[in-house]
Amino acid sequence: MGHRVKCYYCGHTFDRDKEPFVPIEGKRRYAHKLCYDRARSAEQENEENKIQLENYIKELFNYKTLPEPINRQIREYLIDKNYTYKGILKSLKYFYEIKNGDKEKAHGRIGIVPYVYEDAHNYYLALFEAKEKNEQVVVSDYVLPTRVVCIRDPERSPMTGKRKLFSFLDEEENE
Ligand SMILES: [Zn+2]
Repeated sequence: MGHRVKCYYCGHTFDRDKEPFVPIEGKRRYAHKLCYDRARSAEQENEENKIQLENYIKELFNYKTLPEPINRQIREYLIDKNYTYKGILKSLKYFYEIKNGDKEKAHGRIGIVPYVYEDAHNYYLALFEAKEKNEQVVVSDYVLPTRVVCIRDPERSPMTGKRKLFSFLDEEENE
């Protein structure tokens, strides 16, 4: 007969006498060991990306702790726009390090992110693909120039569309 249980993560029913499993703490549920490990490492990675992003912003604007309006911006991007911590970080790096964006215009906030997210994604994707193909390419040939925007201009609205996860970077950075 065995013990039929439903995996907390993938939803498949399995026999915990036959497959490695992990009990889910405080939930009286079980999960495949593999599903559990995967979920844990994704969570950990997300947590690491969060810390990296926070540290980057602190350094960028000389904050000791992140002011609440920035935490709010981050939450809004994650929830309303489906951005990721890594995507937000890469957008800031792209704007301030690659495009030499002007920090003074940011007024200590990260409102630039939605305006460069798409371009940053394309930029890092082009880099990644070039590396995959092992080609020597000039990435700027592949990337449209950043739209010059005034981040306080209410007329402009950021691009929305397909979710850009920057997930192609995961492999590379975990090496
Ligand atoms: Zn599972």
